[in-house]
Amino acid sequence: MSNPELNSTKYRTILLFGAPGSGKGTQGKILGSVPNLFHFACGDAFRNLRIEDPMGRQFIEYSSKGQLVPDDTTIALWAKNIKASTVNGEFDPARDTLVLDGIPRNVNQARMLHDTLDVKAVFFLSCADQGKMIERLQRRALRENRLDDANLEVIKRRLETYEHETKPVLDYYGPERVHTIDATQPPLDVLRTILDIVARIKS
Ligand code: ADP
Repeated sequence: MSNPELNSTKYRTILLFGAPGSGKGTQGKILGSVPNLFHFACGDAFRNLRIEDPMGRQFIEYSSKGQLVPDDTTIALWAKNIKASTVNGEFDPARDTLVLDGIPRNVNQARMLHDTLDVKAVFFLSCADQGKMIERLQRRALRENRLDDANLEVIKRRLETYEHETKPVLDYYGPERVHTIDATQPPLDVLRTILDIVARIKS
């Protein structure tokens, strides 16, 4: 499916992938501070919207139930943010690698971005221990004032959404591009693994 908002450049991209609470955000923030890597976290872009914004209202409606925001809205928000970051000079597609965190989050979004992203690697932060992830999310609820993390039912729903809708994205990109990393390791070890692979990626 094509989207007129997206231009014809293929962005050199790496994806941070994993369940809520797997540590994508922690890694994304660090990676975003590395020169020539530009980090975009889709959940942050939604949280930065104003409540009066129709997209902001849609975000509240869906995220409060642990559901994904509809794909057209999500891709439009992504395109708008990437365009703005390009215009203001934060992101230079000719020089930088895009680090995407939380998008694409289902196979349809991956298809919608197919002509736009040149996905070099997918870092799958894998954690088999659901209890551990729930614990992390509940700690984050207090620290970052995230309403969708505060309610156990919503957390469970998000983990289900992840299993059913998001995980198939791994098959979409295929095993040559997917690097599975144990998310229960200390963040520094996860980071080291990611950086080693990023440094070896050829353009
Ligand atoms: P987490 O990975 O911890 O669930 P995020 O901050 O990535 O948190 O996302 C929070 C919420 O924002 C999601 O539960 C969903 O409702 C919405 N969201 C974020 N990214 C997307 C996306 N790519 N597609 C649809 N909804 C999204």
